[in-house]
Amino acid sequence: MLRVHEFSIAEGLAAQVLANAPAGAHVRDVEIRIGALRGLEPEALLMCWDSVTFGTPLAGATLQIDQRPWSIRCSQCGREWTSPVPFVSCQCGNATPVPSGGDELDLVAISIDEEET
Ligand SMILES: [Zn+2]
Repeated sequence: MLRVHEFSIAEGLAAQVLANAPAGAHVRDVEIRIGALRGLEPEALLMCWDSVTFGTPLAGATLQIDQRPWSIRCSQCGREWTSPVPFVSCQCGNATPVPSGGDELDLVAISIDEEET
């Protein structure tokens, strides 16, 4: 399932990678970090990445997504923990601890195949 949100993010990423990679380099891996607040679906983003990079110098480059978990803080007992989903109950019985998450979308690393020519 393609979603417009992921598609535009994949397009932006591809442009950013192309701007940062040396001309003519073969990009092997692209590593990104996304915050929980972005609400991105990694599988959707990967599909969009494949279609955005198809036929470009980035074709075949692997997108590695480091998705940050939500930080949950309980106002009753003060416990803090991380969770892949924002709405969870605390061990103390509080059903509405407060989720918070980053909204980062960072290009962490680009791996390039070194080729002797
Ligand atoms: Zn609690």
